Amino acid sequence: MDVAFWNREIETMDRRRLTELQVTRLRDTLDQALHTPFYRRRLEKAQIQSGQDLRGLEDLRTLPFTTKDDLRQSFPFGLLAVDFSEVVRLHSSSGTTGVPTVIYLTQDDLDRWTDLLARSIVATGCTSKDVFQNMMTYGLFTGGLGLHYGGERVGMTVIPIGGGNTQRQIRVMKDFKTTVVHITPSYLLHIHSRLAEFDTRPEDLSLRRAFLGAEPHSENTRRKLEDLYGIDAYNSYGLSEMNGPGVAFECVYKQDMHIWEDAYVVEIIDPATGEVLDDGQKGELVLTILTRRAMPLLRYRTRDLAFLHAEPCPCGRTHRRLSRILGRTDDMLIINGVNVFPSQIEEVVMAVPEVGTNYQIQVDKVGALDRLTVKVEIYPKMFTGEAALLDRLKARIAEKLRASITINPRVELHEPGVLPAFEGKAKRVVDNRQEM
Ligand code: AMP
Ligand code: ZN
Repeated sequence: MDVAFWNREIETMDRRRLTELQVTRLRDTLDQALHTPFYRRRLEKAQIQSGQDLRGLEDLRTLPFTTKDDLRQSFPFGLLAVDFSEVVRLHSSSGTTGVPTVIYLTQDDLDRWTDLLARSIVATGCTSKDVFQNMMTYGLFTGGLGLHYGGERVGMTVIPIGGGNTQRQIRVMKDFKTTVVHITPSYLLHIHSRLAEFDTRPEDLSLRRAFLGAEPHSENTRRKLEDLYGIDAYNSYGLSEMNGPGVAFECVYKQDMHIWEDAYVVEIIDPATGEVLDDGQKGELVLTILTRRAMPLLRYRTRDLAFLHAEPCPCGRTHRRLSRILGRTDDMLIINGVNVFPSQIEEVVMAVPEVGTNYQIQVDKVGALDRLTVKVEIYPKMFTGEAALLDRLKARIAEKLRASITINPRVELHEPGVLPAFEGKAKRVVDNRQEM
């Protein structure tokens, strides 16, 4: 198998030197974090006045975790470690309470992030000759712009088409002989189911590779997509708090994702106790970013469950590999690649005066795509027999939900007492999606 590198020295660095590099960068990161009110308070409590107080990597374990809640509470500037005028880009995602989180990057931060993406892209065998159709959503979401910049840095021809509009996606793939796409697995499956409608067979495309990200998928789904299109599909993992995609990516051997340890200190912890677990043990992924000056984050709890493996990869890269994401430690749902917290839905429906006290969230697979249905009980006085009134209410709830969670749910209205009631802990989410 052909193995190409973007930065051979870093990618194949021996583990001892890699650890030394991490320690150096971690000290710098601590110095940088001390510029923020948030970490100054925290680090001083942990007896850290400067990065030099860190004796080795093990000392990191003595520092407290950072959570999404911390990010929300520090919104908008509590974690900003440079002057705002140095920031060249920000990304943001909404969260459980509607309070967004925001991530800042300086020009150097952006460069380093782009480099990780270029490295990831080259690890899959892509070159400057590739035509790259980026079907991830652009905008505040990091999936679009992240891979876009990485693709340009490699010198690929980048088509910034963004998500949706299947007919146009297929036409563009044919017009420009697209060789690689970045897409959610569910959308790539969906496109396949619609090829015939647009008079297209997979052989009519020039596709050779796909980067699959933003949502969990199984090995079987990967194989299925590879067979349907006759391509190689690579798993890509990232999250906005750690810049976005480019945290971990599969190489041509496709045996889980190299996690770029020169840029991230990786820990797997027991989510209940916070204790750090060994390689091979499943737990919550905790990341410290080493290459971002504008907004350092230490020991960030991703809520993603996974494990690490340390055995050498045939490609020669020394960076450990991260398993597929096996679940979450919170109740976040990923619906067609978009993160949705049940509490966001609750907040919206409970603010509608006609809605009673009970609701239910249902997720189904329809074809390849996920479908979200929000069922709400409404007060009896609403059932006056006037259908138009109910339709308007349904549309109003759907619109409010769309504004909050950015996807379009189906809304069902029910009379009181129809939805399951709970005496103990309510189970409001019914997820009918099966492993494909
Ligand atoms: P966001 O911050 O919106 O980019 O969402 C990040 C979250 O998406 C991660 O914490 C994961 O839960 C999920 N995610 C991203 N990439 C993958 C992947 N390849 N497999 C499974 N889940 C993923
Ligand atoms: Zn490898």
